[in-house]
Amino acid sequence: MSGDQSSLFDLQPDPWEFDDQEDWTAARVAFSEPPFGPFDYSIPPELQPILKPGFRVEVPLGRSNRSMTGYCLAVIGPSHPLAATVNPRRLKPVTSLPDDKPLIDASMLPLANWISSHYVCPVGSVIETVVPAGVRNAAGQREMTLLALSDDPATDWKKIRLSELQRRVVDALDISAGAMTASELAETAGCTVAPINTLRKRGLIVATTRRVQQRTHEIPAEKQEKDLSLNEDQSRALDSISAAIDAGRHETFLMLGITGSGKTEVYIRAIRQTVSHGRQAIVLVPEISLTPQTRQRFRARFERVAVLHSHLTPAERNWHWREIAAGHIDVVIGARSAVFAPLPRPGLIVLDEEHDGSFKQDKAPRYHARDVARWRAEQAGVPLVLGSATPSLESYRRAITGEYKLLDLPRRVFDRPLPDVATIDMRADFATGKGIHPISQKLRQETRLALNQGGQVILLLNRRGFATRIQCPACGEAIYCPDCAIPLTHHHDGKKAVCHYCDYQIAEPEQCPECGFQAIRFSGLGTQKLEQYVRALFPDDECMRMDTDTMKKPGSHEAAFTKFRKGETRILLGTQMIAKGLDFPNVTLVGVINADSALHLADFRAAERTFSLVTQVAGRTGRGEKGGRVLVQTFCPEHPAIDFATRHDFRAFADSELRIRERTGFPPFGELIRIVVRCEVPEKALETARTIADAVRKQLDQDKVECKILGPAPAPLTKLRGKYRFHVLLVAPLGASIQQTVDRAASEFKFPEDVQWIIDVDPMDLM
Ligand code: ADP
Ligand code: ZN
Repeated sequence: MSGDQSSLFDLQPDPWEFDDQEDWTAARVAFSEPPFGPFDYSIPPELQPILKPGFRVEVPLGRSNRSMTGYCLAVIGPSHPLAATVNPRRLKPVTSLPDDKPLIDASMLPLANWISSHYVCPVGSVIETVVPAGVRNAAGQREMTLLALSDDPATDWKKIRLSELQRRVVDALDISAGAMTASELAETAGCTVAPINTLRKRGLIVATTRRVQQRTHEIPAEKQEKDLSLNEDQSRALDSISAAIDAGRHETFLMLGITGSGKTEVYIRAIRQTVSHGRQAIVLVPEISLTPQTRQRFRARFERVAVLHSHLTPAERNWHWREIAAGHIDVVIGARSAVFAPLPRPGLIVLDEEHDGSFKQDKAPRYHARDVARWRAEQAGVPLVLGSATPSLESYRRAITGEYKLLDLPRRVFDRPLPDVATIDMRADFATGKGIHPISQKLRQETRLALNQGGQVILLLNRRGFATRIQCPACGEAIYCPDCAIPLTHHHDGKKAVCHYCDYQIAEPEQCPECGFQAIRFSGLGTQKLEQYVRALFPDDECMRMDTDTMKKPGSHEAAFTKFRKGETRILLGTQMIAKGLDFPNVTLVGVINADSALHLADFRAAERTFSLVTQVAGRTGRGEKGGRVLVQTFCPEHPAIDFATRHDFRAFADSELRIRERTGFPPFGELIRIVVRCEVPEKALETARTIADAVRKQLDQDKVECKILGPAPAPLTKLRGKYRFHVLLVAPLGASIQQTVDRAASEFKFPEDVQWIIDVDPMDLM
């Protein structure tokens, strides 16, 4: 991208002309929509003292000079390093500045630029991700007229004659700490606004207007709790992190701590250290673990905590944002986007459950919060702490090669044993010829036993709905979403069939739409059907289902977990929502209904995800005195992902999986870029994907970059929302940074109007 605006100026009358070529200043401006720019504009003299990088600007664009709002990326003069890239003779002037302050802190602009080039996304749209909409639109702010006594030195208050009411007004203002609105003043002085207006007319009271942020809600303070005394492993981990904090240097730590090893306590102490240096910390957690339990835990340890969760209104978000920027907050806790929190003096960034897929944004800019955090921490010269019981192989490899410092927490607190994990080989159940019950004999007995002993049970099934396949046994026809190549899932609640990708819904079919056969079959197991089985098997024990269907209302998580914690619910069943981060000491049995469900997906991370899910859900038990055990139902107990998970052996799993990755050159041994092309016409999508792949190949050759190109091939989800999908995978050696090559190839390519395409750098999702 260049700063050349010349194409916009053909046939353009009167571009701004500088009289003196030596004396010019230009603003480099980017837009959040096409044309993204950046383009250069001259800065009129009256704006020169004000305009800085990070400001919004109003500028004319194109032949019609339509007015656009853009972001000022740089202010460039003759001695600026970028001066040679500006053509000062042909610039239009900036029209005006909508704000009196920069919208984005100048220190965040290099971050936006990095995201823009790493993830191949226009910088203007990156800025709109970095600064939330509520902040850009000043949500929750309103104009207020504030009154104060005139400070004109010529006013001699002793000599001025005032009525009784006027005197009361003046006294009220005199003793008040700051300015007041007219109605506040009237109330304080105990009068109407009439005497106030008279005083304003006499010039004794002056008014100023200000934009004031409305405080959206009061957050009750949490009773502060004392820090726990750390055990030996925790102290050792904290010492390493503290050393970096005290020295004020950047270092990335990977805390490999098994479930229940007390990682959060270590974060808390490291944050305390940071705050004691007058600095602020960011704690990033997966959206799913932003539970009231997590919030409460941090708010009981720190007084000035901001929690950025997805249910905030734009006004609340704006209010938090301003509080953070003003330095009123010590600890920011939030999901992915909290990595952009505008801390005045960042001192530490923590990413808990760093392996979690929700840290990657699935729309442009497709950034990964871990990589953004790393960039930010490096620039700020502060430590980054990544924590997980099942780290991503990317982070783990960096730790074993010494790029990150590995911190080990190999034991649970109080030396509590990890739960005993056993597999149940479902092939044996199948071999009996009696058909497979979703809850095997063994799991049934153990559940009974755990309940009889007063324990609670968690059952994991990572598929919502009732039946995951609707098929006619007579003609074999299965019912698919008309827009996606995905079988519809039968939902018993509401008697409907639903597409889990686009939410297309129809009434539950009573007969086969193809052949009219009356007894259509609903097969495949979803959480709704599992719930039915559980209720039938354990009619006297209270059971609850947690999945996105039952947890739609805000606050429903909290209500469900409270019931479970109190012991009112004996059996909790659900999707991965129940697998993470929960700490319930009375859970003595965890059952995994189908550990293989994600194992055979066409994604090179399928084994890694399966290992992680089984390990995480297993970690929900054995947290109390009673201990706990885990039963894993599977058709392939010998698969390394399942075998090593039953042995709680992350390192052995990682080593075996890394060997496979090394052979294929996939991450963490290479860099991956995925290009997805979509079109309603499959031939056209494929044709376009081929053309792009060829263009990229040519450009790679020209740039002499080594890179493997896989495809184009149909994406595993071949059709979504009416569009056929093809993808191309680019696998490059580490450090090859092929983004710019791909960008160059793509920017010269004219895409047919009805074909959409995306570039996903470091993709997490290959479906
Ligand atoms: P992790 O995040 O590694 O899963 P947590 O930090 O949630 O582990 O700790 C698990 C439980 O152990 C929590 O209830 C926590 O309060 C408790 N805990 C952690 N460290 C200590 C300690 N040093 N002394 C006593 N209890 C601790
Ligand atoms: Zn669909």
